[in-house]
Amino acid sequence: MKTETPQDITHLKKLADKTFERYIKYRDSTKFINSIADREERWCQCLICTEWIPFSQATVKHFVKKSNLSLRWDEFNVNAVCEDCASIDNQQAHFKAISDKYGDDIAKELKQLSTRPMKLTVDVLNKIIRDSEQDLKEYRN
Ligand SMILES: [Zn+2]
Repeated sequence: MKTETPQDITHLKKLADKTFERYIKYRDSTKFINSIADREERWCQCLICTEWIPFSQATVKHFVKKSNLSLRWDEFNVNAVCEDCASIDNQQAHFKAISDKYGDDIAKELKQLSTRPMKLTVDVLNKIIRDSEQDLKEYRN
């Protein structure tokens, strides 16, 4: 069996972030017809201020901070937001937005789950990447 090196984990963590966050952006986006330019455009709705923003300008925000590994790739914890909402500390508005979208229980549960320990292994990370790629495919269409 191959031994897991810290480099493997670091590399896979980055790839898991990239794939998962791309999937979240697609999940939180909708295709619109731009009739003037006669093409389809994908826009994301910001979870917090609910503004629509072009896909390329949207980013994602973690409700329980990204440094918390047990919720770093959690589908409720991570949502598409605009750059303004991403850059400010707005926990209260973020909590309300999570509650509005998923229900009060989820927002509270995320807070509780944030204390759960998580051991990152190559297997765990590979699964996150595989699942995200699968989800990404479904939402891309
Ligand atoms: Zn916003």
